[in-house]
Amino acid sequence: MANCRICNYKLKKIINLGKISLVGNFQKKRTNQKKYKISLNYCTSCKHVQISERLNPDLLFKNYLWETGISKTNISLLKKLLSKLKSLGINKKSKILEIASNDGSFIKILKKKFNSFVVGVDPARNLAKIANKKKIFTINKYFDSKLSLSIKRKFFKFDFIFARNVIAHIKNPNSIFKGVEQLLKENGVFIIEVPHLLNILSENQYDNIFHEHSGFHSLKSIDDLCKLNNLKIFDVDMIDSQGGSIRCYIVKSTFNKQISKKVKYLSNVEKRSKIFSSVKLNSFKYKIIKHSKNLYHLIQKLKKKKMKISIYGASGKGQALMQFSKLNKNMIDFVFDKSKLKQGRFTPGTNIKIIDPRYISNKNIDYLLILSWNIKKEIMKQEKEFLKNGGKFIIPFPKPRIIN
Ligand SMILES: [Zn+2]
Repeated sequence: MANCRICNYKLKKIINLGKISLVGNFQKKRTNQKKYKISLNYCTSCKHVQISERLNPDLLFKNYLWETGISKTNISLLKKLLSKLKSLGINKKSKILEIASNDGSFIKILKKKFNSFVVGVDPARNLAKIANKKKIFTINKYFDSKLSLSIKRKFFKFDFIFARNVIAHIKNPNSIFKGVEQLLKENGVFIIEVPHLLNILSENQYDNIFHEHSGFHSLKSIDDLCKLNNLKIFDVDMIDSQGGSIRCYIVKSTFNKQISKKVKYLSNVEKRSKIFSSVKLNSFKYKIIKHSKNLYHLIQKLKKKKMKISIYGASGKGQALMQFSKLNKNMIDFVFDKSKLKQGRFTPGTNIKIIDPRYISNKNIDYLLILSWNIKKEIMKQEKEFLKNGGKFIIPFPKPRIIN
């Protein structure tokens, strides 16, 4: 088994989740896709929770069908972030780098709002192409400490570096942190967002476990990465993104910056919640097994009553949950998703067709299982006609429940 991706110490297994197809691999035809082993573990030294299967990142990220631009919930989060950035002094002189800049949506907004100089880095060819077309200069590569040196030769140092929802994806996060340290100005700020381990454990969000997510972070694990790379956290926000995330604000360890009280507060919350206790981590296994069985039995029971069941949301987590809970095409008719990139394709490992949500009313569906549950409010509001016409929603977490 691999060693810890942060401190390189030995791992201990929490649960072996069997084999699943890669959750981002949406094909245009029904195919018998390869399945890969996946297991959840924690480090016996630093307690960082992580999967131990380290696949070739090209398999996962070269052709990535997830555009930042789509969800409305993200846009409201963005407004709050913009006002925070203003208070951190972002302006037209700021040089900004975004790691995993996706289709360039975020830095395009910064460029427009603050007139700043922006550069993106993203390994997905399809997305880098879209970004460059929008005149957002995007380097089509993986960001690591080596690439950071070549970026430094070309652009020198940056005032702000962003890594939103990417640290958890990387096999070797130390390489990103080292690269950032090399590229950050003396008073520069590094801002990262990661789904919070606390929510994953307390709300049983095991659908976050798939091959794209190498690690499940806490303030502590980010702090460990900072310490190993001459950086420090000076502020943190808890944000309602991806089912509960933390946004950490980081500077060089040599920069004299006052540490916000929120950092100490959250660190205490994490300790009190025992998310680094072996007993708590080991017990996650039984919660996962129980939940996936409950979800399967609920769908199976409705199916026996001849109900027509479809899924809303072809997100990665949805694809993971479908596979862990053994939902299959005999139980589920369609998967609806707004992403034009996914429509017309088939779900990986389960081979169910993905279609545009505007056809929901034509398909006589009795139940819609919302697998993009992190934006469930947005979806339920958008599909209120479905509810009015007698349709029911199934929300999978924390426990599977029906809403009518
Ligand atoms: Zn470790």
